[in-house]
Amino acid sequence: MNIIPKITPIYQTSVFKFEDLDAVQQYFDEPGSRYLYSRNGNPNSDELADAVNRWEGGAGAVATGSGMAAIFAALMTYCQAGDHVLCAADIYGGSAALLNQELARLGVSVSYVPFEELYNLRPYVQASTKLLLCETMSNPLLRVVDLRAMATECHQHNLKLVIDNTFATPVLTKPLAYGADLVLHSVTKYLAGHSDVTAGAVVARTAEDAARLRQIGTVFGLTLSPMESWLSVRGMKTMRLRVAAHSHNAQQVAEFLEVHPTVEAVYYPGLLTHPQHVLAATQGHGLFSGMLSFRLPDDVAVVNRFMQRSQRFPFAPSLAGVDSSCSHPLYTSHRALTEEQQAALGITVGLIRLSVGIEPVEELLADLAHALA
Ligand SMILES: *Cc1c(COP(=O)(O)O)cnc(C)c1O
Repeated sequence: MNIIPKITPIYQTSVFKFEDLDAVQQYFDEPGSRYLYSRNGNPNSDELADAVNRWEGGAGAVATGSGMAAIFAALMTYCQAGDHVLCAADIYGGSAALLNQELARLGVSVSYVPFEELYNLRPYVQASTKLLLCETMSNPLLRVVDLRAMATECHQHNLKLVIDNTFATPVLTKPLAYGADLVLHSVTKYLAGHSDVTAGAVVARTAEDAARLRQIGTVFGLTLSPMESWLSVRGMKTMRLRVAAHSHNAQQVAEFLEVHPTVEAVYYPGLLTHPQHVLAATQGHGLFSGMLSFRLPDDVAVVNRFMQRSQRFPFAPSLAGVDSSCSHPLYTSHRALTEEQQAALGITVGLIRLSVGIEPVEELLADLAHALA
């Protein structure tokens, strides 16, 4: 019998067998020829890493147990005790928590750079500054970073540029092509796309950094399980179609909210009124993702009423699944920011973030009309 599956089976094993000493010697002499132990490498996690690496156009990648593990692995690729990093002030709350609460304790310090000052880093750079971390499209205000200008500015100061590309996805934007050094994902979001897996990935522009990433993934134990890898690979097969559908729906939702009398502001790069609309259109190849935020009056009762009345946007503090959801930055994702950081970003109780799914858009618009009435 010759079994040749079309789809990679799930190699649900923690370890692999060797015939003899020659076989184990071959594992070390010919990298990639065999597997040893799943934390070091597994056919399923390698398939996911290769898929993300191909999409992003990198020299190598590692799949990680979560997006947070991906951020940690990326920072560890370049940093050691005594180093300093720059981070865009508009950043995922977990990234801020990692930097403020954990890496600070290990001797890696951080300075936050306001969005308007990202292309003029001189006042922020110290002798020990190693890198800048930012997001292609920020959460929750959907500010868009000019990646080419950002890479030029970083490299002028001898800094590595690390991009969290979770919101944009490589369907819109491939940061390595603009000069970024590492690009990372919460695979949990658009790459897997079905809200049923927690995973991450980091892709390197150079083979040297890719080898560092693999070492870090293995020895810190950040790598991903076979089952989660398999689900992520399956999700990624429809990513191009899903992200286009998410984007088209979000555009219509944003246009609907923009003229709604109860809505005070809408943040979506696809709107002509968005400050980086032209940049976003170019860098995103005409797609703007399924993520948007809008502002209701700063009144807990008003926000609660919206959440209670909406059927199609359940309050579920994640994003990018095929089903729509809403989240609340102040109460969930951006809780860990200091009050100062929250105020500077305008993260108040009235700010709601939608993750627009791929349902028929008329149903989504009808639901929002009902919830806001
Ligand atoms: C969710 C998210 C993360 C963290 O990913 P996990 O998979 O939850 O660990 C990092 N960055 C961004 C932009 C995210 O949205």
